[in-house]
Formats: sequence, structure tokens, C-alpha cells
Amino acid sequence: MGADEKGGRDSGQPLKIGVLAFRGDQQTEKNWGPTIDYLSLAVPGVNFTLEPLTLEQMEQAVQTDQVSFIITNPGNYVDLEYRYGVSRIATLQRFPDQSPSERTYSTILVRADREDLRELSDLKHQSVMAVSANAFGGFQLAWGEMQRHGLDPFADLSELVFSGFPLDNIVTSVQSGLVDAGIVRGCLLEKMDRAGLINMADFRVLNEGMDSSGQCRVSTPGYPDWPLAKLANTSDRLAKRLTMTLLAMPRNHRAAIAGEYSGWTIPVEYQAVHDLFRELQVGPYEWMRQPTVNLLWSRYWQWFLIAFMGVAWWLWHVYRVEQLVRVRTTQLTEANTRLQTEMNERQQAEQKLLSQQNELAHVVRVSTAGELASGLAHELNQPLSAISSYAQGCIWRLESGRITQDELREIIQRMVSEAERAGAIIQRLRGFLRKEHALCRPTDINGAVRDAMELFNAEANKRGISLSRDLQEDLPPVCSETIQLQQVIINLLRNAADALKGLPAERLRIELSTRHDPDEGMVHIDVRDFGPGIDPDSKPHLFEPFFTTTSDGMGLGLSLSQSIVESHGGTIRVIDDVHPGACFSILLPVHKEACDAE
Ligand code: ADP
Repeated sequence: MGADEKGGRDSGQPLKIGVLAFRGDQQTEKNWGPTIDYLSLAVPGVNFTLEPLTLEQMEQAVQTDQVSFIITNPGNYVDLEYRYGVSRIATLQRFPDQSPSERTYSTILVRADREDLRELSDLKHQSVMAVSANAFGGFQLAWGEMQRHGLDPFADLSELVFSGFPLDNIVTSVQSGLVDAGIVRGCLLEKMDRAGLINMADFRVLNEGMDSSGQCRVSTPGYPDWPLAKLANTSDRLAKRLTMTLLAMPRNHRAAIAGEYSGWTIPVEYQAVHDLFRELQVGPYEWMRQPTVNLLWSRYWQWFLIAFMGVAWWLWHVYRVEQLVRVRTTQLTEANTRLQTEMNERQQAEQKLLSQQNELAHVVRVSTAGELASGLAHELNQPLSAISSYAQGCIWRLESGRITQDELREIIQRMVSEAERAGAIIQRLRGFLRKEHALCRPTDINGAVRDAMELFNAEANKRGISLSRDLQEDLPPVCSETIQLQQVIINLLRNAADALKGLPAERLRIELSTRHDPDEGMVHIDVRDFGPGIDPDSKPHLFEPFFTTTSDGMGLGLSLSQSIVESHGGTIRVIDDVHPGACFSILLPVHKEACDAE
């Protein structure tokens, strides 16, 4: 015999045949030992040995190639065929002239005195014992039948106990009342009865029917009988010889009698087992237990619907919010553009107003300068006369030869001083008339007040008015355009002088004062006269353009002064409690940092 005949294994090594030991090792030896001996004798040169295996051991033995052939139940065979490629080479025939296609059954038994347990559905909330969840005849056939009767053994029973081999324990557990019902292979009860281990009358079979031999009470349809299968690595030639040997086994052979069968036949179809496994979703069909979309939908469609509606609502909400944002953004952009246009227009208008105001201020200054001119001419007259006198004196003394060089230098020096004084007067007037853009600079307020007084001095002298001042030292600088500020002060001086017209000499006084109010952060410039004061009816209209009570006035002085002061961030107001006379106060904010130029 060649090496291939030993299934690819070492020659001389016994070839193991694994047999499912559902009634324990001893019983298996008793049933199958003679068959193995028969094979060893009938196949010369090959020594077969019996390997009783539980279901778990069977899988491991096949997986690790520890056996060459297996004899097992149909369910276990179908599973191993799917997983490890074992293939059946013969099917057991229990009885002669009976199809081996219907030979495996399950019997579901209860005690005969349990009147309450008559239908399979009565097993609800009862305890049931079976050999193992993987046992074919010992559980899975019954499971399928229960399922067809609307009973899920894993969910509906009070307890499902798997006892393991041997199956006889299940029968005795039912008998003793340890469990309410038991599941065993078909014909086991009859066998045990024949062996005198039990009395059949003590038991009732649920969903009772007869097996194909008409000798066993069973609860399920019949399934194919046990196959003998070869492992994928076992040689075909050896398998063929083994099959032929088995098929040739004579009837009533010692081995067949011991194994409680009549012989072997060609392998039958195991499709029924596949169908059952598909129904139970076990073995090769275990993957069906994975939740499929259909299954998930049928179970949880309400939740899917809620989730779908939630997502749909959310999408709609997001879309709506986006729409709103888009609309609002467009509106905002439009509003922004409108605002920008308005701002530009306003800025242009302000710019125009400012330049008009500057123009007006200049015009008013020119007119004021015109009014001041006669006084200034008088003031200019003095240094010019002095220069002329000094020059005349020099000529005379030079002609008479009575002048030394030092004396001449001193006289010329005086002439220079007088010329400078005249120059300063003209300079002030020119400065006052200068037309320039209003540029705010840190300004020495006291200096501006003094310059304004100098300009107005000649006019005051002409009118016999005495000007006095009380200026606070160390005033903080304010931000202002000096010429315009001077213009405001001169305007107030002119108004004061106008108000003094016709009054007695002791009241022809104008006082200017400055002070700093740290709490307000303002510098005050007060112009006070001792005239008749402000007429109460005129008071609300003082700062209105073209309001005047004098015949030669234009009514622009105070309104222009107010515009100038306000454009410096300050205010101009009338002080009420002054008697006699009137007092106008200019308030300008102390310069902190924002000036156009330092
Ligand atoms: P105008 O001097 O050309 O009349 P203003 O705007 O300078 O224009 O002054 C408006 C009016 O305010 C004057 O006509 C006068 O009635 C009143 N006013 C101004 N200053 C004084 C003052 N110091 N005392 C009394 N009334 C005054």
C-alpha cells in the first residue's frame, strides 16, 4: 500500500476515524468498535483506530487533521463540510429497505403525569434540557420544530439547560422532575426502554409522530442519517477503498449489529439539513444573524423614520438659516452702501460748510480789520512820528556838528526800535487778515488773548475804553486755530465796546480773564463789560444768524463765533449773574493728544 493510501500520513501510523460520541465514550466504543475492527481487517495494510469525540473535539480534530475520517450527525457534517471541506463518502443505513434520507429525528419528552404539557406551545415558561446547542438530533431538529410552532427556545423558556453527553441524563432528569421537558435523538427513549433503563409509559412525547420505521415516537420530521466523511487531505483512493468496504459489509454483520444499523449505502442528499440550518441561522448560515438592512428596517423602522425626519428637519433648518443669512447679508450690504454714500455726502457737506465758514470768517475778519484800521493807523502814527522826529533831530545836530558818534548810534537805535514797533503792528494786522485752512495746533491761550487785545487796543483807546486782563499763569495748551480764536475774542471785545456806547467814563471798562477748570478739563476765556447787559428778550436769539439790535450790525458775529468755538470742540455762552454789564465765556477743551500738528 502506498503512502497516499494512508491519507498522506506516515505509513504504519494508525488512521483515526473520529466518531461523534453522543452517548459517551464507552457506549461509542461499544457501538462503533466492531465497525472499526471490520475496516482494519477488510482494508489490508491499514490500521484504523476509533476516536470518540464530542462536538467541540470533533471540530478541533478536523481543523488540525488529527483524524482521517469522521462519522457524525448530519448537522455536524454539514457544518464541517462548509468550514473545512470534509466530504461524505457513505451514509449509514439503520434498517434494511428503509431510506436513509429520513432517519434522524428529535424527540421532545415530558413526564406522562404532566397534564399541563400537551402541546409544544405549553413549554412556554418551562425548563427544558438538551445536550448541546450544536447537537443536531439532540437539539437543532427540535429547535426548528419549536420555532415553527412559534416558540423560541432561547427566549420563551424559563430555562434552557445544556447538559452535555451522554443523552441518557436528559431522560433521567425529566423523569426525576429536575426539568419540565427534555430533547433527545429520536429512538433513544425506545432504546433505553428496551435496555430496561426506563419505562416508556412514564413519558409523553410532544408533537408526537412516528419515525419512518414506525418504531419510534418522535417530535420532528426525519432528516438524513449519519454520514461517513473524509477529510480534505485524506486520499481519494483510500476513501474509495473504505467506501467499497463499507458498502460491501454483509447484512447482520457483527459490526452492524453492534452499531445498531443494517449497513452502509451511497451518500444521500443533505439539502434538508441546509434548509434547517438556514431557518435557524446556524452553522454555515450563522452570518445571516448579522443584522441586514431589511431586518433592521423591519425592527426599527419607527426609529429610522424619526431619525430621517430629524435629519430632514435639520437640513431644512440649515437651508432656511442660510437663506436668511444670505437675504440679511444682502440687506446689510445695501444698507452699508447707502450709509457709506450718506456718510460721503455728509462729509462733503461738512467740508463745504467748513470751507464756507472759513470764507465767511475771513470776510468778517476783513470787515473787522477795516473797522480797526483807523485805530491802527493812529497807532502806527506814533512810531512813524517818533522816527521822523528822531531823524529830523539827527539832521540838525549833524549840520551843527554837535553830535558824537555814540549819540548818533543811540538815536539810530531808537529809530530801529520804533520801526520794529510799527512793523509789529502791521504784522499783526496782516496775520489777522491771513486766509488759511483751519489747522488746530496746541495754542497758548494767554498769548492769543494778548495778541487780540493788542489788535483791539487802538480801537479801545479811540473810544476811551480801558482794557484790563487777569490771565491765569501756566494754562494748559488747548487745540485751536489761533487766528480764528483771536477773531472770536475780538468779536466779543467789539460787542462789549458797542454795548458801552454813551455810558459814563467810569463804566467804560472791559475785562478779559482766563482760567483752567481741571474738573471740566476746560480752559475759560471770559470777556466782561460794564454796559447795560443782555436784554432778556434778545437772549434766546443771540446766537442766531442775522440777529442784531444795532442799526449798523450784521448779526453774524456771535453765530460765527459759536460755529468757530464748536468746531474746536468747545462752547460759548452768556454768564447770567453779572451786574452790571454782560459776560461772554468761551470754553475750550484742554489739548490731550489729537491736534493736527504740534
Ligand atoms: P452784531 O454785533 O452785528 O449785532 P452779533 O451777533 O455780534 O451781531 O450780536 C448780536 C446781538 O447781541 C447784538 O446786536 C446785541 O444786541 C447783543 N449783544 C452782543 N454782545 C452784547 C453785550 N456785550 N452786551 C449787550 N448786548 C450784546
